[in-house]
Amino acid sequence: MLFRALLLALGLIAVSLPASAEIKAVATFSILGNLLAEVAGDKAAVSAVVGPDMDAHAYQPRPGDARALAEAQVLVSNGLGFEGWIERLAKAAPFKGKAVVATTGVATLAAGSDQGHSHGHAHDHAADPHCWQDVQRVRTYVANIARGLAEADPPNAAYYRERAEAFDRRLAELDAWVKEEIAKVPADKRRAITGHDSFRYFSSAYGVKFQSPRGYNTSSEPSARDVAALIRAAREQRIKALFVENMTNPGLIDQIARESGAVVGPRLYTDALSGPDGPAPTYEKMMRHNVSALVAGMLKN
Ligand SMILES: [Zn+2]
Repeated sequence: MLFRALLLALGLIAVSLPASAEIKAVATFSILGNLLAEVAGDKAAVSAVVGPDMDAHAYQPRPGDARALAEAQVLVSNGLGFEGWIERLAKAAPFKGKAVVATTGVATLAAGSDQGHSHGHAHDHAADPHCWQDVQRVRTYVANIARGLAEADPPNAAYYRERAEAFDRRLAELDAWVKEEIAKVPADKRRAITGHDSFRYFSSAYGVKFQSPRGYNTSSEPSARDVAALIRAAREQRIKALFVENMTNPGLIDQIARESGAVVGPRLYTDALSGPDGPAPTYEKMMRHNVSALVAGMLKN
């Protein structure tokens, strides 16, 4: 615990610190940190720059982050502009190891709004970075991570490949489970409102329609008109399933609930895991928690 507190003070979150670790691997945020730790096993000490319950969109790197990157052999980022701060940080460190962009080869969806409101910044027509909300796409993340670890640490290549294959089998089961759970909700009730627009890939993969008062980036503030339009839509479409995410301000969602009659469900974990004692300390637990909460909420629609 003392060591963990020390790492926190340095601005770095330890994900796993195996005694026999041979290399150091850093992920940009907690969800990637877990995927990386699942593949790395006890051959790499894994840390995440942006820890549990923290917003990676709006992160400000600290001096400890540069020190961790300077010592690391592997750096895993999501890419697609999700971590706008990572390139400058890696250059400043400097990071000299193997850089893995986890979304390499993943089919992307456009981040543009389909609700007629503008995000007001340069990423309007860029790809949506939240690919991890589709378990099938995360299988590609895991393959990319395994390849990167093998290149950085060739003597353990077979070890990483076997860990990745075992993890991939669990992800295939998880994907099937998500589909079974969503199928319990009648098709016309598969609608929910969330705090920021991070569910496009989930929506596309699993057939749930999401609406959100702000864009995909937590730094864009919705206008009063956007919020009013969403409240009207919630009333008209009788959407009861309303959710707030672990790393965004709940004020807006509370307002929508008050004015539309929707019910605020359990907190969803979208861009960050929970701490070790929360309901979403790993990627698999995060998906199971979110899907269970969504299904229970949508059944009330
Ligand atoms: Zn996000």
